[in-house]
Amino acid sequence: MSDVAGRTGLIVGVANKRSLAWGIAQAAAAGGARLILTYQNERLRENVEALAATLDPAPLLLPCDVARDEEIEALCSAIQAQAGGLDFVVHGAAFAPREALSSPFVETSRDAFRTALDISAYSLVALARGTQPLLANRGGGSIVTLTYLGAERVFPNYNVMGVAKAALEATVRYLAADLGPQNIRVNAISAGPVKTLAASGISGFSGILQVYRERAPLRRNVESSDVADTALFLLSHAGRGITGDVIMVDGGYSVMGM
Ligand code: NAP
Repeated sequence: MSDVAGRTGLIVGVANKRSLAWGIAQAAAAGGARLILTYQNERLRENVEALAATLDPAPLLLPCDVARDEEIEALCSAIQAQAGGLDFVVHGAAFAPREALSSPFVETSRDAFRTALDISAYSLVALARGTQPLLANRGGGSIVTLTYLGAERVFPNYNVMGVAKAALEATVRYLAADLGPQNIRVNAISAGPVKTLAASGISGFSGILQVYRERAPLRRNVESSDVADTALFLLSHAGRGITGDVIMVDGGYSVMGM
């Protein structure tokens, strides 16, 4: 039995059945966790509701636009009232304006830069701050976010999202140092490319998938379930000694020189 059984977890970033956060939600629910899923706004609620209905036990559904501090506060109050605490948090939200992912990086506007960094990196700080008391109530817990190798290396059209992921990875380290004394661990999974809604916003994404398939030591693309299983490890007691880290789940692509 997985040791997320009986644990309560918040998962942010389920948009549809391809979402990496949805893969993690499925794995955690299968492991016996009780889940809280969020949706960004009313327009997107139905999608998440339909997916949530397929999980047993049925997750609690709450709204949260991570760009809004008041929504994060309301989310955490609702969790306190309805679940009494949290054992883990999955942060799978990211966004950059589409034009910033198709034009030369040097053309990135101040607005696009601000939006990408706000939603894709700062939101982890805000979510960690909001959930800290809920996790501390349970004697600690685990926070996992999702990043990409574009934080360290240049990929065509990944652009400002690479800068946001670099900030996200540094954020993981600073949060880990702050929250570690409360036994709250903070880690990132750096996933290889997976065809999701967010990925489809990056021009030439299928070319990136192909290069990974050809060059990664495992000679395949990773799947959402590969990422989910590593997330479950980090979220559970099995990952208790790991914090502040970025774990690669990319079929080994990142070790190759060429
Ligand atoms: P996805 O299904 O499109 O998930 C992205 C999520 O971010 C969506 O649920 C989206 O919600 C949410 N989001 C955007 N703005 C938000 C906001 N203001 N408030 C709350 N939620 C917001 O794509 P994904 O690929 O699974 O992305 C999940 C994470 O994995 C991202 O951090 C991504 O960068 C990372 N990642 C992806 C890959 C890949 O190749 N797919 C590789 C490495 C890392 P709405 O759609 O409802 O707006």
